[in-house]
Amino acid sequence: MKKLTLRDLDVKEKRVLVRVDFNVPLSDAGTVADDKRIRAALPTIRHIYEAGGTAILMTHLGRPKGKVLPELSLAPVAEHLRHLLGGRTVNFIDATVGERVEKRIGALAPGEIILLENLRFHEGETANDPDFAAALARLGDVYVNDAFGTAHRAHASTVGVTRHFERCAGGFLMEKELDYLSRLLEKPESPFVALLGGAKISGKIDVIRNLAGRTDTILIGGGMAGTFFAARGWAIGDSLVEEEKINVARALLSDIGEEKMLLPVDVVVASAFRENAARRVVAPEKIEPGWRIMDIGPASVELYAAKIVEGRTVFWNGPMGVFEMPPFSTGTRALAEATARATDGGAVTVIGGGDTARAVREEDLEERITHVSTGGGASLEFVEGRELPGVAALTDA
Ligand code: AMP
Repeated sequence: MKKLTLRDLDVKEKRVLVRVDFNVPLSDAGTVADDKRIRAALPTIRHIYEAGGTAILMTHLGRPKGKVLPELSLAPVAEHLRHLLGGRTVNFIDATVGERVEKRIGALAPGEIILLENLRFHEGETANDPDFAAALARLGDVYVNDAFGTAHRAHASTVGVTRHFERCAGGFLMEKELDYLSRLLEKPESPFVALLGGAKISGKIDVIRNLAGRTDTILIGGGMAGTFFAARGWAIGDSLVEEEKINVARALLSDIGEEKMLLPVDVVVASAFRENAARRVVAPEKIEPGWRIMDIGPASVELYAAKIVEGRTVFWNGPMGVFEMPPFSTGTRALAEATARATDGGAVTVIGGGDTARAVREEDLEERITHVSTGGGASLEFVEGRELPGVAALTDA
């Protein structure tokens, strides 16, 4: 990593202000429903207390938009972290900045941990307000950013706060994420196969453009295939289409070439956007009015799986279909298995967070993927070739 890392800091008897990404889904009962992001930050947290530093953890949760919403309190997350650390005390305070918080932190002994309340209960967080950033900075002697999932946002806790510290380092999760994602852009081993799906082409256009020169094959699936089919001039019934992006899709097809960028050769269509709707497999140029694309078809699965398994580097972002509905999850599940097989064969496989990470986890395949990113939006922006503000703000190594 070209930035300082936690290893470069002496944290002994220091107050270490750590931006983590504990933006996790909560169950209806208010408990942590998926703790992947919390577990991913444990190496950083453990390193700090084992080295005799006080870990002051701060994160956002959900989108309270500057209001105090009790259902978005981090208290249950503190409880969950305590459980993950084998019962070690995790202090929690129902505030983020101010004298009371400073006093409480001042009373902690080296090796102790405290989690602050939801950063986004303050408007100043997403506004990158300098006063709020300065108030956060008062809480620590050194600063560590381990929140890869929020690194694409210039907020008070990721960017503004760094102005107040001489040395700002990335945590171990940040380091790992950047290492694996950099490999995709810098000298990836060939064949490099990118699998892109999800609802929309917008948000993926720059990813496709930036990967085009680096990959051997780009496989397109999901709802966004519809816009490419429309660009070929095909009628696609009631399928999702972004009319204003048809021209972009046409340009991508001609710039990259259809040898390199593949579209599904068959699709599963349904008579309605419903789990129990009638469904059939058709060629994409034969979609009748009233039907809509819900998944890639079996011939596409076979074609794509063969490409993936041959890959030495595989990057995947976005489900192949409406995978939340079991009848339309087949394509996504089959390609998750193909990606795992590629890893078994020695390929470096990287999943770009979000829905795709969820699909892989649901299939119990996480262990057979080289790296599953904790940041959907952040990993996409990275692969687009953009500099992430939260990373740029760290001290150069
Ligand atoms: P994204 O956030 O762009 O990665 O999109 C993820 C969403 O795309 C998931 O919720 C999927 O249900 C949805 N999706 C995938 N394929 C389709 C499709 N053919 N039609 C509608 N939505 C889709």
